Amino acid sequence: MLQLNENFLNLNQNYLFSEIAKRIAEYTKANPDKTVIRLGIGDVTKPLTNKTIEALKEGVSHMSSADTFRGYGPEQGYEFLRNAVVDYYHRNGASIEADEVFISDGAKSDTGNITDLFGPDNDVLIPDPVYPVYMDSNTMSGRNITFIDSNKDNNFTPMPYDGLKADIIYICSPNNPTGASYTRSQLKEWVDFAIVNKSIILFDAAYECFIEEDIYPHSIFEIEGARQCAIEFCSLSKTAGFTGTRCGYTIIPKELEFKAGNGENVSVNAMWNRRQSTKFNGVPYIVQYAAAATLSEEGIAECKENINYYKENAKLIAGCFDERNIKYFGGINSPYIWFECPNNMYSWDFFDYMLNEIQVVGTPGAGFGKNGDNFFRLTAFGSRENTIEAVRRINGMLDKM
Ligand SMILES: *Cc1c(COP(=O)(O)O)cnc(C)c1O
Repeated sequence: MLQLNENFLNLNQNYLFSEIAKRIAEYTKANPDKTVIRLGIGDVTKPLTNKTIEALKEGVSHMSSADTFRGYGPEQGYEFLRNAVVDYYHRNGASIEADEVFISDGAKSDTGNITDLFGPDNDVLIPDPVYPVYMDSNTMSGRNITFIDSNKDNNFTPMPYDGLKADIIYICSPNNPTGASYTRSQLKEWVDFAIVNKSIILFDAAYECFIEEDIYPHSIFEIEGARQCAIEFCSLSKTAGFTGTRCGYTIIPKELEFKAGNGENVSVNAMWNRRQSTKFNGVPYIVQYAAAATLSEEGIAECKENINYYKENAKLIAGCFDERNIKYFGGINSPYIWFECPNNMYSWDFFDYMLNEIQVVGTPGAGFGKNGDNFFRLTAFGSRENTIEAVRRINGMLDKM
């Protein structure tokens, strides 16, 4: 008789965004005359830039003629895109090589799939609150998860401490949901910890393009020693609005090796290469062609205009809290504003309160972990018009609370 992977039964069944959608649907059904503004889900709203669109069209034209048509491509991604990622990293001050870059359909797949490479008995360290993929993918494979508290006492940047045990360490900086970022010196402490303990850091850099202050690194590979202990995930989703177009990249340095049970040193880069070659057939040529154009200097300059637009929204939202001296995190090097719910409200209660009182939707921190119970996330990815209206309503609400 078939046996199921019963680890799935240990997953939290209540998917955050479906619960939010359900509550909004119920509210709008009961209040059809009200306009709800959504500053909840972390999806972009600006269309792709001109440079990306032109390259997509060019990619399509290549597919229409026998001389330039492409079928299966390399599972690791086309050389031209791997080189474009290398150039992008060099411009950001980190040195990587093309055969350390693996192109994929996004950072979510790679952060989920990477667990294929690691044995079942590792101690997995995950910050609480966290992007749910890290936790759920390890729960599916039945690994033991330890949480490290990320809270206002440590400014949502938890650090290694004496006696900490961790073989696989997840770090997301700038962070979703908290908007907090690690400085270079803080990351150096994690790198040193990983090297001493022979652990691996899985670094999610999905929001690196929002960094504007130089104390925060764009890549963990700006940190000395990281090439011996870290993998980095990133994508064009937040950088270039590719959430629906799908293209990401994972960087695995060739120095990254661990000892197997038989005493042999095994390259993680070679393992991932094998994994991808077996289970993945690459990202569409058209998308890769456009991604390479997007990562060019000119392409990124266009993306920065959109990112600056979102950052302007973030400043407007943060202004509500600045004016009242309410502490918040993010809002500068991040599209997220993470703040403590007024009057110590539970975040789902605050969600309902905001929806009912001012019809503004955010994301309750409780959906990301227990340290999020009394926190709330607003995103800067809305339109300017909606953001301005939401800010007006939030100001009115805070004045009454
Ligand atoms: C949005 C996001 C990603 C990007 O996922 P894609 O699959 O590339 O769209 C990765 N990590 C975090 C934490 C995110 O919020």
